[in-house]
Amino acid sequence: MMFADISDLSFQSACPEVEFIGLTCSALSRLGFVAENTIACVSVCRDEISQSLVEIINSRWGYTFNLSSLAGMLLTGRTGLLAAMHHAPNMDGKERYVFYAMPHIAIDEGGRIGACLRTGRQGESTACGALNIFLKEVAEGKVNPIIDFNDIELSLIRMKLLRMIPRGEIPGLFELTKIAQKAIQLDLELTLRDNIDITSSDYAVITGIQVHKPDGNYVWPVSCYSVVEGDKRELELE
Ligand SMILES: [Zn+2]
Repeated sequence: MMFADISDLSFQSACPEVEFIGLTCSALSRLGFVAENTIACVSVCRDEISQSLVEIINSRWGYTFNLSSLAGMLLTGRTGLLAAMHHAPNMDGKERYVFYAMPHIAIDEGGRIGACLRTGRQGESTACGALNIFLKEVAEGKVNPIIDFNDIELSLIRMKLLRMIPRGEIPGLFELTKIAQKAIQLDLELTLRDNIDITSSDYAVITGIQVHKPDGNYVWPVSCYSVVEGDKRELELE
């Protein structure tokens, strides 16, 4: 397994998940987004250790539209995003969407990136496993960027992330996770740009990295903003 240089780590600003979601809810309620008038959409990794975030979002927003793929990559495209948007409450003539989208990474007690333990399972595990598989392929120079119909999601992850890695570089898992976060945000924003009507809809984008530490799950925020009446503003998470 490959590990990033620990000095690369800056998870100090990571926030416990419950606290982080609470902060986003408070900030968004000041902008008119509440559970009754908003649909929350989530893209996190399929990994069972990522689902705590979905549960918290469910408990705060009532329910969620699931946009998730391996590594939290946003592979659902226009069809998935439009479906979510078409399910939003609109009783007051306006639609509101909140998108939580992020990859994940584990860090163990010794500060080793990617390493985690799983309940009821012996030995060490890795998160994100999908990103780690791709990383090994990059390190060995064996990336085959074609669609494998028996492994569609990893095929798309390869194709999307390979072009975002600087030529000749082999990132660590932390670096690759940051690249994945950028890819997820880019895919979300491009799909939104082409499909959202900001004259009748308000929305928020909340992205970062979900961090699994031995004492619980955290969110390392990267980009959190709202677009209300077409006006884009950073969320005040305080
Ligand atoms: Zn994963």
